Amino acid sequence: MRKYLYFGILPFLFAMQNCTNNPNTEYYSIDDYATVEKYDSHVHINSLNPAFIEFAKASKFKLLSLNVAAPEYRPIEEQQDVTVAQRNLHEGLLSYASSFHIENIDDPLWQKNTIEYLRQSFKKGATGVKVWKNIGMEYKDSAGDFVMIDDPRLDPIWDFIEANNKTLVGHLGEPKNCWLPLDQMTVANDKEYFESHPEYHMFLHPEFPSYQNQIDARDNMLAKHPGLRFVGAHLGSLEWSLDELAKTLDKYPNMAVDMAERISHIQYQTIQNHQKVHDFFLKYQDRILYSTDIVFDDSAPADYLIEQAGALWKRHWAFFTSDQTMEAPELKESFQSLHLPKEVIDKLYHSNAKKWFPAAIN
Ligand SMILES: [Zn+2]
Repeated sequence: MRKYLYFGILPFLFAMQNCTNNPNTEYYSIDDYATVEKYDSHVHINSLNPAFIEFAKASKFKLLSLNVAAPEYRPIEEQQDVTVAQRNLHEGLLSYASSFHIENIDDPLWQKNTIEYLRQSFKKGATGVKVWKNIGMEYKDSAGDFVMIDDPRLDPIWDFIEANNKTLVGHLGEPKNCWLPLDQMTVANDKEYFESHPEYHMFLHPEFPSYQNQIDARDNMLAKHPGLRFVGAHLGSLEWSLDELAKTLDKYPNMAVDMAERISHIQYQTIQNHQKVHDFFLKYQDRILYSTDIVFDDSAPADYLIEQAGALWKRHWAFFTSDQTMEAPELKESFQSLHLPKEVIDKLYHSNAKKWFPAAIN
């Protein structure tokens, strides 16, 4: 008897849950992945090998490659040459964001030289400028102080980007996990990264600026430059709390975020409160850009990198579009996918990239 009751109530509960959805809402299927036009707005193409961009094309992906002043990458001037060469080979498939050197910020000619470099980048077609955590977490000026993102010496650079109607992309600070010991980090990808990059693991460097110092400096820069279009890379380093991210997006209307290498944090939060994550995506559907942080260089065989990228893109597509229980290598527990409506997916995967990087290809 009890058994019948149990099986009898399940379809009823299921129907109750479903009737909160509009029956006219349209959804993509997993198979639609192969045909829907998509955009990955955070990759790093550091190779002249055309294989990855051709694979992206076959997967219906267009790409935004970000130049980064990272010590493990080739110099930013060479990165720019590589991305421009690839862009010219693959017209309409690839766009790029330039970057600049922070060293010599004390040099009286630094501002003029930096603006000139960016002017040349914009002539070459750069759609924006990327800044990295060397600002705030690595570089110290001649006085021995960290140069933070709200440093007044940087203001003319932000003004120049805004005057040229380009976008600033900021990887500023790190996930909050970076300030925790390895065994307390919430997702495996952070654990792996900081284990292999102890120089950026802030738990080991308590004398460096704090997590909050990084967030405050970013907010202060945005408050000083309300007209500057800003995309906070990696969920704006507010990946640990969609509530905090929502407050920041409300406060700075000219800010959007990309999801690069932080989708595991979104998945992690669905385990605690799936509805909240779903609602966040509906509410901020115009402010979030699909992106991965895929790096394509010559450090590993192209076939291997392409296979990894394809698996990652497909797993993410399943997470955002389908309605199922899933697993991901970054998380110990399984989680429920987001099943977002078609129109939201189209924004995350395409039209938001066009909106926030208007100089990019469409
Ligand atoms: Zn990146």
